Amino acid sequence: MSSFVVALDVGGTSMKGGLVTRSGEILRTDRRATPRDRGPAAVIATIRSFIDDLAAAGGGTPEGVGLAVPGLVTAEAALYSANIGWRDVPATDLVPLDVPVMLGHDVRTGGLAESVLGAGRELSDFLFLPIGTGIAGATILHGEPYGGSAGWGGEIGHIPVFPQGEPCACGQIGCLETYASASAVARRYSTRAAASSSPAVSSPAAVFVTAERVAALTASGDPLAMEVWGDAVEALSLALATYTLLLDPSAVVLGGGLAEAGPLLSDPLAERLQERLTFRQAPPLRQAALGMSAGMLGAALLGWRAAGFTDAGTTWSLDVLKSPRVP
Ligand SMILES: [Zn+2]
Repeated sequence: MSSFVVALDVGGTSMKGGLVTRSGEILRTDRRATPRDRGPAAVIATIRSFIDDLAAAGGGTPEGVGLAVPGLVTAEAALYSANIGWRDVPATDLVPLDVPVMLGHDVRTGGLAESVLGAGRELSDFLFLPIGTGIAGATILHGEPYGGSAGWGGEIGHIPVFPQGEPCACGQIGCLETYASASAVARRYSTRAAASSSPAVSSPAAVFVTAERVAALTASGDPLAMEVWGDAVEALSLALATYTLLLDPSAVVLGGGLAEAGPLLSDPLAERLQERLTFRQAPPLRQAALGMSAGMLGAALLGWRAAGFTDAGTTWSLDVLKSPRVP
């Protein structure tokens, strides 16, 4: 049995786990529910038993453990997560074994994987922008994610783009996330569709549609969907223009559920971004390469780094991209 690390991507609803060898071979992937409703202690206990079970499945002691977690994070501790509800959890509390461990912020760890293994492999400076339930970004500088002075960096989803606009759950007004996250696109379309149909024939619940459906309706020319989709593109172009002018990325790597729409999103977004950036070339938009496995693969890189292999991943074959995805 070859030596391996245990990699865990801890999300608000589920955890993706994997066993990854020194050469980048994925021996196993697994998924477990995050028992967020039972409190932070239950989440920590689930993480510990998941790591134990994965290590046992590998048939030995892992060389290291890497974890991608939400919230405010250092390499040694999970400081705060509104999503999970924990405060000041040392990395060693999350791992039941006496092995080296390294933590990373979930989005930045996904960005690290895209940087070392994925769409940013040959890029030095880029923005990794996963657009899902929410929007956060990973600023990649010289190949490494940058979290700012205290770890709050990358909250591009809460950049106000329409200051007179709709309230955001964060308390600000007109945040990017309020217009352009997958859940915002679904919510904004559903609300408008409900308002425009007769209450006698349709309740709001009856017209709830997913962002994927809004994308399909946009492609088929539905005026309401096109309006909502257009607002999302407009909001993204504003935020990306700001980011580009400040940091001059060589590319923007789009990930998450909304990016699955492909050219339906990236074509109008590239056009609007270039129109805004009057005096310079807009950075090219790229599709993320690692999909939903980015966080777990980034955690594997952290696990190998914890074990002392700081160049982990640089020699991994691109076949890692074709490895079995997390179920
Ligand atoms: Zn906000």
